[in-house]
Amino acid sequence: MSHILIVEDEPRISAFLEKGLQANGFTTSVIQDGDDAISFALDGTFDLIILDLGLPGKDGLMVLEEIRGQGIQTPVIILTARDDVNDKVSGFESGADDYVTKPFRFEELLARVRARLRTSSASQTHADTTVKFGSILLDLRTRRVHVQDRLVELSAREFTLAEIFLRHPGQVLSRQQLLDRVWGYDYDPGSNIVDVYVGYLRKKLGNDLIETVRGMGYRLRA
Ligand code: CA
Repeated sequence: MSHILIVEDEPRISAFLEKGLQANGFTTSVIQDGDDAISFALDGTFDLIILDLGLPGKDGLMVLEEIRGQGIQTPVIILTARDDVNDKVSGFESGADDYVTKPFRFEELLARVRARLRTSSASQTHADTTVKFGSILLDLRTRRVHVQDRLVELSAREFTLAEIFLRHPGQVLSRQQLLDRVWGYDYDPGSNIVDVYVGYLRKKLGNDLIETVRGMGYRLRA
């Protein structure tokens, strides 16, 4: 499952994108201003970024320059109301991979998202259907989990959470990141649901699998 960061300050458009992308099997996070977009993009756990150019705080081009400058190679599709050749040129010069002009049809955007994801993962067809870590194997088509040779039942949320951990071994993931990715942007940040679900995963997949990093979040032991 690919996770897409949507950077867009107009709620109407971000809701439209989220709804469409989720209906097509993607997970999404929405950020509304440039500075937040940079910190989210730098965490590096996204497969693709949809970036509006006109944003409060740092604008889209500044965001793009900054994340590329920091070595983040996540594919970026620029989204803008400005159908301006200069914008297009500066976008590509700053490291954008593609460009969609508003107003756009969702299908048009979706085709570009899929094309970009195909290009960036062309060499990992197998990785599209399974995620493996140590003795744990997630089958993304059947949504089944094998631990050694044992089949373990996970709920949909547990499966998504497990997938995120397995795709980022050794990386500290904050409660907020996990909350955004598994439960969605609007979930109450004061909730302890992430802790509860990490507990479920430990019980089902192995107690030592996920360690608590005090004051920061959780990490899959690499
Ligand atoms: Ca805007």
